[in-house]
Amino acid sequence: MTGYLSEIFASFEGEGARVGMPAVFVRLCGCNLACSYCDTAYARERTDYATVEVGGRESRLANPVSPGKLAGIMADAFPGCRDVRITGGEPLLQADFVGRVAALFRRMGMGLHLETNGTLAGEMARLGRLFDTVTMDVKLPSSQDGRSLEAEHTAFLQALAGPARPGSVCVKIVVTPECSDDEVEHDLSLVARCGPRAVVFLQPEFDETGPVVGGERMLRLLDAGLARLRDVRISLQMHKILKMK
Ligand code: SF4
Repeated sequence: MTGYLSEIFASFEGEGARVGMPAVFVRLCGCNLACSYCDTAYARERTDYATVEVGGRESRLANPVSPGKLAGIMADAFPGCRDVRITGGEPLLQADFVGRVAALFRRMGMGLHLETNGTLAGEMARLGRLFDTVTMDVKLPSSQDGRSLEAEHTAFLQALAGPARPGSVCVKIVVTPECSDDEVEHDLSLVARCGPRAVVFLQPEFDETGPVVGGERMLRLLDAGLARLRDVRISLQMHKILKMK
């Protein structure tokens, strides 16, 4: 079994519950969505090789890669790594590979964190127990050319309800200038119904200049979230503020 990777690099968590904590990022390539605000378009298609960045130097790694080879790279290039974030693209499109890699990383003593677009419930149900935290996006219809992902997100949140420990499920909703407050509130209600123990992050879309949604609107939406859920927070993309990956 092999997997397609986009890049591997060490940085810090730029958003969400673990913001500021160091991690090695393993980004898989291939995605089943085309979000309007996608900032990793280079990872949406499978590529012939991945880049591995260590100490400011980049090298190429031919795709596909076996779980054993990836574990060897992690041990050699990132000794002492305590936490890994598996991201994409959409990593659960390669769920068998992710499962094998996660089991190997766990044996190496690493904490495991998954970032997903929250559409592949069956795959999540199979792998859920392998991760310390799962961060899923809830995608607003305005980010999907008007298509609703409510059914997919509902099934996904239900798949996480079983294996989840308190604090281990995070939901991210990206607020854009184009989306309506009604859309955001509708999806906050969806999370309250299907994953009430999730920590919800409302995140303004960023461009190269910074957040493109104002603080007053974010505060209004935060109040709307806290009327429905226990733990809702505003999140900024710290890595972008600091001009990092
Ligand atoms: S799910 Fe993620 S990688 Fe895929 S298009 Fe959306 S933002 Fe981009």
